[in-house]
Amino acid sequence: MSSSIVTVRTIADLRGHVTGWKRDGESVGVVPTMGALHAGHLALVEAAKQRCDRVIVTLFVNPKQFERADDLAAYPRTEEADRQRLAPYGPDVLYAPTGETMYPQSFATTISVGGVSEGLCGAHRPGHFDGVATVVTKLFMQTQADVAFFGEKDYQQLQVIRRMTSDLDIPVEIVGVPTVREADGLALSSRNAYLTAAERGVAPALNRALCRVAEGLVEGQPASKLTADAIEEIRGAGFRDVDYVEVREAGTLRPIERLEGEARVLGAAWLGKARLIDNVPAFPRAAAGGNG
Ligand code: AMP
Repeated sequence: MSSSIVTVRTIADLRGHVTGWKRDGESVGVVPTMGALHAGHLALVEAAKQRCDRVIVTLFVNPKQFERADDLAAYPRTEEADRQRLAPYGPDVLYAPTGETMYPQSFATTISVGGVSEGLCGAHRPGHFDGVATVVTKLFMQTQADVAFFGEKDYQQLQVIRRMTSDLDIPVEIVGVPTVREADGLALSSRNAYLTAAERGVAPALNRALCRVAEGLVEGQPASKLTADAIEEIRGAGFRDVDYVEVREAGTLRPIERLEGEARVLGAAWLGKARLIDNVPAFPRAAAGGNG
């Protein structure tokens, strides 16, 4: 068990490590996070450790991807606990830059990805994916990573990052890691900490409803009917509002009505103070396989 995670806060210090590794021909993986680490994040670190010689975990609560000041202020910040949680997984560096390092006063650039950023969470969180694309581009440039690891839990985000990396010819490979769940199906999320005990009991209803949509699609039912039923089911379970439940083609995120190739069923809904998101795959019968 390693407990020697080096914490760096400046680009110069980070580059010092990375330059040495690259000189020695070592591959570099990066796992971007906003902290409040749980087993979902740690699965990304494990995947990175398996794949790369060196692993950087980044910790930065990115103000540009919060569209509400109260949400940003309330976001959990637990750096010391995060460092302890990471230790057994042995990343080489925890890169936790300051706000001033990431966005100095003069900062004036926004990366905006069309197509896959539109609809779903993009429609409900204006500016969110611009904030994500901008910070992830900076983290790629700063870390010079060869491989970057992202969770399928944030499926639209993963597709936005794939599109952006390809469009901008950034020399980094993007790896998606399946969603880590509680035993009752609830996707692990830093935002689950906002749930009361009663809400925690209700929360798995989101995943159950999405799985039911996926099953219906495989049986040949139309997406519009299945998603309308799912929204009713999620509301009936005790969620206070449903932002969306939709069926999209897995790679392009184009809306689809019938299952032809690989699809994703995606949903977002409000439970008390928490906005929960989740998604599950749907494969036509002949091509069945995988889980998300
Ligand atoms: P966050 O700290 O919420 O920005 O998440 C950092 C990374 O962890 C993102 O790539 C997320 O998709 C990923 N992640 C969050 N929750 C999970 C989960 N339950 N399973 C797998 N990956 C996750």
